[in-house]
Amino acid sequence: MYSNSLIELDRAHLIHPVASYRGHEAQGVRVLASAKGATVTDAYGRQLIDGFAGLWCVNAGYGHESIVEAATRQMRELPYATAYFGLGSEPAIRLAAELAERAPGDLNHIYFTLGGSDAVDSTIRFIRYYWIARGKPRRDQFISLEQGYHGSSTVGAGLTALPNFHAGFGIPFDWQHKIPSPYPYRNPAGDDPKWIIAASLAALRAKVEAIGADRVAAFYVEPIQGSGGVIVPPKGWLKAMRDLCRELDILFVADEVITGFGRTGPLFACSEEDIVPDFMTTAKGLTSGYVPMGAVFMADHVYQTIAEGAGASAVGHGYTYSAHPVSAAVALEVLKLYEGGLLENGVKAGARLMAGLEAMRDHPLVGDVRGRGMLAAIELVTDKTARTPLPAETQPARRIFDRAWENGLVIRAFANGVLGYAPPLCCTDADIDAILEKTAKTLDQTLEDPDVR
Ligand code: PMP
Repeated sequence: MYSNSLIELDRAHLIHPVASYRGHEAQGVRVLASAKGATVTDAYGRQLIDGFAGLWCVNAGYGHESIVEAATRQMRELPYATAYFGLGSEPAIRLAAELAERAPGDLNHIYFTLGGSDAVDSTIRFIRYYWIARGKPRRDQFISLEQGYHGSSTVGAGLTALPNFHAGFGIPFDWQHKIPSPYPYRNPAGDDPKWIIAASLAALRAKVEAIGADRVAAFYVEPIQGSGGVIVPPKGWLKAMRDLCRELDILFVADEVITGFGRTGPLFACSEEDIVPDFMTTAKGLTSGYVPMGAVFMADHVYQTIAEGAGASAVGHGYTYSAHPVSAAVALEVLKLYEGGLLENGVKAGARLMAGLEAMRDHPLVGDVRGRGMLAAIELVTDKTARTPLPAETQPARRIFDRAWENGLVIRAFANGVLGYAPPLCCTDADIDAILEKTAKTLDQTLEDPDVR
């Protein structure tokens, strides 16, 4: 059968990201064949509701003809234009202008990449250029959060705090430091926002002091930590951290690769928190996953400093596909769709999703429910009072993911027993209800599973 031969070809030739190769060979690939709205269909014709928008990226949902038309038109007219040698293309220039207009504050300069990892990597280079231009080349130390995720490039993965991205690479490098995550459900300071914020501020101050105040270049945060398990800091946390960085003269980077483009409600989570970072990194929802693209937003003062510092010489950083015209044409169309009703629908659907998940708090396995907009999680525990995580040895994540799949639902099951939700913003009430109903069924089945409890 069509699908079985694909499974053999996949096993023989396709290397999957962040996978146990032997585990994947044993399990075999699940081939997705088509999709529409928030529903994906596999190669056997089975329909599933996509509660994770691919990999938190298909924010607009599947099957928008206008996006296909925008890409086709651009491929026909000009499929590629380099942005090297002072060249450019209309969609890339227009997209930069549209994004700058909507970005918080003075984030007026945009550098296009292929995705999130190279967006983060680009900021590392730009930040070094910035401090060299300011005559402070020793400002070369970077701080990020535990449970943080900032991509999988060889250098940027050192800002990521997931141990399986580090082993064998000598990362984090000695110039990459971490402070604890605000993680309200498991914060030693308790779950009072006041104490969580105070603890994070104290941790950042202490880390800067330990490294040396004149050595720290930048601090990286996700407004909501995604891959660490959808960790939502309390309101006011982001602003407090941003203000401290300003006081300490440290650049503040908001990694909005997941939170950007309507995931939490507005186009950018930073706007909602009323902060203006020095850099913002985005990808995923920028093109809604239809084609690859990322964007680094750079504040005026940073751009001017780098430009002055470099003078007549070239700032050495670029990719063949920086500012790709087809990706830009897609992003322009996706932006229209967001503002033509998708953002609004996402807010409505997000409220329904959160209310439905909140109603599951009484389930014996549910320790915590958290989220904002169309980004949510429930954290499963075996003992609610002690907040005991599921036993990692029995690979609960794999088992829960498989069970949800059998029930016709795609979710993210994190190794620590957190279930992540990031559905497309186009979800109807019926889509959200299906996600909730299939989640409830999966939880009840998990409760009966002796290897998970
Ligand atoms: N930063 C954050 C916050 C992310 O969530 C991700 C991807 N999940 C990245 C960076 C890396 O993006 P990509 O996978 O597109 O390289």
